[in-house]
Amino acid sequence: MKTLALFTFIDAFGWELLRKNSFLEEILSFRTPVQTIFGYSSTCDPTIITGLLPRDHGHFSFFVYDPENSPFKTARILSLLPKFISSRGRVRNIISRFYKKYLGYSGYFQLYNMPFRMLSKYDYTEKCDIYEKGGINSGASTVFDRLRNENIPFFLADWRASEDRNIEQLSKCIEEGKIRFSYLYLAAMDAVLHKYGTDSEHVRTKIAWYENEIKQLVEQAKKKYSEVKLYIFSDHGMTNVNEDYDLMSIIAKLPLKQNRDFSVVYDSTMARFWFLRDKAREIITNELRKSEKGRILSDETLHDWGCDFRDRRYGDLFFLLNPGVLLCPSYMGETSLAGMHGYTPYDKDSTAMFASTIKPEIVPERLDDINKLMHCEINRL
Ligand SMILES: [Zn+2]
Repeated sequence: MKTLALFTFIDAFGWELLRKNSFLEEILSFRTPVQTIFGYSSTCDPTIITGLLPRDHGHFSFFVYDPENSPFKTARILSLLPKFISSRGRVRNIISRFYKKYLGYSGYFQLYNMPFRMLSKYDYTEKCDIYEKGGINSGASTVFDRLRNENIPFFLADWRASEDRNIEQLSKCIEEGKIRFSYLYLAAMDAVLHKYGTDSEHVRTKIAWYENEIKQLVEQAKKKYSEVKLYIFSDHGMTNVNEDYDLMSIIAKLPLKQNRDFSVVYDSTMARFWFLRDKAREIITNELRKSEKGRILSDETLHDWGCDFRDRRYGDLFFLLNPGVLLCPSYMGETSLAGMHGYTPYDKDSTAMFASTIKPEIVPERLDDINKLMHCEINRL
């Protein structure tokens, strides 16, 4: 009989949500808010598994202006598609699948709402599966590299598979009783929160479902292991959207030409600009300063948030919207959503959570501390 460490990651299940809902009350005696990292799951998840800040693991948003290294040189032909076809989600999914295969990418890949006629100016930043060896952009190793190197039997959820499938696989591993460490990734909550916001019945139903599934796994594990340590955490929270903001139209009206004077990626909560001519910097900066919907992030702020990237890879200037304002339309989508994340990490609704059956040896204060705790747990196996 031995110990099993069950790390369970529920995407977007933030501290506010945990505080307001009943969730595994009789099991999770320890609960604490955890400071998230600026960015989306594409930034937060590498931080959790490497323990590094974005500038050091090299992951942030998916698209960057980089015409020399763009893998989408052939995409110009797609711009011939009429908009009523090219803007359809189903069409974009098929084209995304084609590109993923054609380019040999093993990571998560989606073209979202990126304009086809400009795609050849952009590079994609998550080409590899971050959970596999060598998957991190900076070459940093992950907690899973350590488990593999040290031949510790572990379960790692497959991000391509459904929650049901992953829970079923973990249950099988527990039954065999060989694994000592588990990383169960549950991703569906994020989509429920984007669609319905944080106060919906759908959210409560989903939380109750997690409660039931996790309880069963723990019960099952207790029969096979002398000690079962359950750690549950999220990467960020979710903020209810109360307003859409069409920044794209405002920028399009400026006396500048995209990809000659400047380039930009419109994410869901921020716009990232690259300046190709000095006058573009001046005009765009002046325009953004007039906006009451967000703010330009200073170099100091980007440094504090660990997002001062080498060569300004992810943009010369970041304009971040206020919590609750959605950049819509954007390069991520054309329709509004009830919830979004990726605002200032200091907003209460952005805050992630951590909960466990025992007080952990390291109490996570920021997302990278969860990595420290995982290593601490492995040291004790
Ligand atoms: Zn999300």
